[in-house]
Amino acid sequence: MVPPKPVPKTKPRRGIFHAFKGNLEALMIGVKYFIDPKRFTLIYPKEYNKLREGYRGFIVLIKQKCINCASCARICPAAAMKMIRIPEVDEKTGKQKVKNWPVIDYRRCIFCGYCVDVCPTEALYHVPYHDVVYQNMAEMYLDLESFQKPPEYKAAEEGIPVRYIVDEERGLVKVPYKEGEK
Ligand code: SF4
Ligand code: SF4
Repeated sequence: MVPPKPVPKTKPRRGIFHAFKGNLEALMIGVKYFIDPKRFTLIYPKEYNKLREGYRGFIVLIKQKCINCASCARICPAAAMKMIRIPEVDEKTGKQKVKNWPVIDYRRCIFCGYCVDVCPTEALYHVPYHDVVYQNMAEMYLDLESFQKPPEYKAAEEGIPVRYIVDEERGLVKVPYKEGEK
C-alpha cells in the first residue's frame, strides 16, 4: 500500500509585530539578568574564577625530580610535550654529556593531563589556572628554563577571586571565594 502523501505544515505568519515582540522579550531577559544581584557573569578581569584544586591547568616541571624517562613525551596525544637534547657537565665525573629533558609547546597542548598522570616521579604538576596571556605564538613554546616556572597569573594579582556553585533555585551562581577553600 502506498503511504499517504505528507501534508506540509503551514508556516506561522511572522510579521513586524512578532519580530518586535521577540526582540522586546530578549531585551527584557537581558535587563532582568543585568539587575539580578545573583547574576553569574564574571566581571573579568576585576573578578576571576578561582578554580578548584586538581584543575588541569598549565603544567610545571620540577627538574630535580625528573629522571629523563620520556614517558610524558611518549604519552602526549597532541605532540605538545617533547624531549630535547641538552649538553651538560656531569657533576661526578666532570665530563661533558648530553641529557634529554621535557619541554612543552602550548600551541599544541590540549590539557588532558596524561603527562602529569604518567610521570613516575611526580616531576610534573598542574597549576589551577588557565587564563594566561601570551603575546605571540613563539612565547607559547617553553624551553627547559621557562617550563620550570609557573606562568605569570595576572588575573590573580589584580582581580577578586570568586567561585561558582550550584544553587537549588537558580542553578549556577557566583559567590565570593573564602580563603582556604579547596
Ligand atoms: S596535558 Fe596532554 S596534551 Fe598537554 S602536554 Fe600533557 S599530555 Fe600533552
Ligand atoms: S615522565 Fe616525568 S620523569 Fe619522565 S621525563 Fe617526563 S617529567 Fe621527567
